[in-house]
Amino acid sequence: MDFGFTDEQNLLRESVRRLMQKHAPPEYVRQHDRERTYPEELFQACAAAGLLALPFPEDYGGAGGSLLDMTIVAEEIARVSADLVMAYTGNIFCGLNLLRKGTEEQKRCWLPKLFAGEIKFSISMSEPDAGSDIGAMRTTAVRDGNEWIINGQKIWASMAGAKNNVINLYVKTDPGAHYRQGLSLFLVDSDAPGLTLRKLDMLGRRATGTYELTFDRVRVPPDRLVGGENKGWDVVMSGLQVERATSSAGNVGAAQGVVDLAVQYAKERKQFGRAIGANQAIAHMLADMATEVEAARTLMWRAAWLASNGHDALREISMAKLFTSETYVKVANLGMQVFGAFGYCAEFDMERHYRDARAATIAAGTSQIQRNLIANLMGLKLQ
Ligand SMILES: Cc1cc2nc3c(=O)[nH]c(=O)nc-3n(C[C@H](O)[C@H](O)[C@H](O)COP(=O)(O)OP(=O)(O)OC[C@H]3O[C@@H](n4cnc5c(N)ncnc54)[C@H](O)[C@@H]3O)c2cc1C
Repeated sequence: MDFGFTDEQNLLRESVRRLMQKHAPPEYVRQHDRERTYPEELFQACAAAGLLALPFPEDYGGAGGSLLDMTIVAEEIARVSADLVMAYTGNIFCGLNLLRKGTEEQKRCWLPKLFAGEIKFSISMSEPDAGSDIGAMRTTAVRDGNEWIINGQKIWASMAGAKNNVINLYVKTDPGAHYRQGLSLFLVDSDAPGLTLRKLDMLGRRATGTYELTFDRVRVPPDRLVGGENKGWDVVMSGLQVERATSSAGNVGAAQGVVDLAVQYAKERKQFGRAIGANQAIAHMLADMATEVEAARTLMWRAAWLASNGHDALREISMAKLFTSETYVKVANLGMQVFGAFGYCAEFDMERHYRDARAATIAAGTSQIQRNLIANLMGLKLQ
C-alpha cells in the first residue's frame, strides 16, 4: 500500500498553496464574501497557472493530469475558502463532461477558451420543484426549425452570473419520457436574450453566488446541444464520480482550514492566565477535529484513487461525499465553540466557515441521497 504522492504532485500542492497566498490572502476572501462579488482575479490566476487545463488531455491543450491531481488542487483552494473552490471545480466538471460527450468541434471550440479564462462554465439542473428529484424537472427545450427554444425556471445555479459565463443547462427535450431518456444538455450564454438572472440571498458561498434563472423563449442554435438529444442523463452520470470526488476534496480542505484556524487560536487566546488550548476540554476537542478530518481525507483519497485508476467507485465516492461534508459541518461547529464570541463575529474567518459549511451536506446531492445510494448498493431496497 502506498500513501505517498509523486514529486510532481507535491510540487503541484506547493504551487497551489503559493498561488492562494499571493492571490487570495485573508482580506481578499473576506472582501468578496462581504461584497458578494465573484473572485475574478483568482479565477484568472488559476487560468494563467494552467490549473483549469490540468485534468484535460494534451491533445486539447490540457496538462494530462489525473483526478487525484484535481483533488490536490481542490483541497488546497478550499483550505482557504470552501466558496472560492467552486470557481475552480465547477468549471472543470462541466469541461470534463464536454470532453467526454461533446463533438470534436465543440471540444475545439470551448476548451481552449475555458483554459484561457475567456469563458466560465456553471451547471444548472435544480428547479423549485425538482431538487433531489431531478425527474420532476419542468424546463423544456423544443425544436423550432434548426434551433431550440427554452422555457422554464431554474434555481440554486451557482456562479451563473459570473462574467462570460456559459450555463451548462439540463432541460427536458422529451417530457413524456423517463428522465433518464428525456433530458438534454445545452450550453447557454448567461446574457442570452430572454434569460433573466436573479442573485439569491444565501447564508454562505456568497462570493461565487447562487442564482435563480428564468427562461422566456430563449433561442439556442443546434451546436449548443452536448451529447445528443435526450442523452443528458448519460452526461450527468459520466461526470458524477469526478464531481463528488472533487467536492469531497473541497470539504476536506475546508475542514482542514477550520482545524488550522482553531488550533492557532487555542494557542494564542488566553483566559484564566493560560492559553485556552491548555484546557483538556479544548485540547481534546481539537484532537477529535483533527482525527475526523484525517479520516475524511483518507476516505476521499481512496475513492479518488479508485476512480483515477478506472475502477467503479460509486460506493466509495458516495461515502466520501457523505462523510467529508458532514465532517466539515461538524468541525465548523466545534471551531466556533473554540473561538467563542469571536467565532460568531463576521470579522473572523470562523464565522464564514460556519456559514459556508452548511451548504456542503445539501449541494451536489444531499447526505440523505448519498445514504440512499450507499444503502441501495448494499442491496437494501428503499421505498
Ligand atoms: C449553496 C448551494 C449551491 C447549489 N448549486 C447548485 C448548482 O450550481 N446547480 C444546481 O443545479 N443545483 C445547485 N444546488 C441545488 C442542490 O443540488 C439541491 O439543493 C439538492 O439537490 C437538494 O434539493 P432541494 O434543496 O430541493 O431539497 P429537496 O430535494 O427538497 O430535499 C429536502 C430534504 O428532504 C430530503 N430528501 C429528499 N428526497 C429524499 C429521499 N428520497 N430520501 C431521503 N431524504 C430525502 C433531502 O435530503 C433534504 O434533507 C445548490 C444548492 C446549494 C445549497
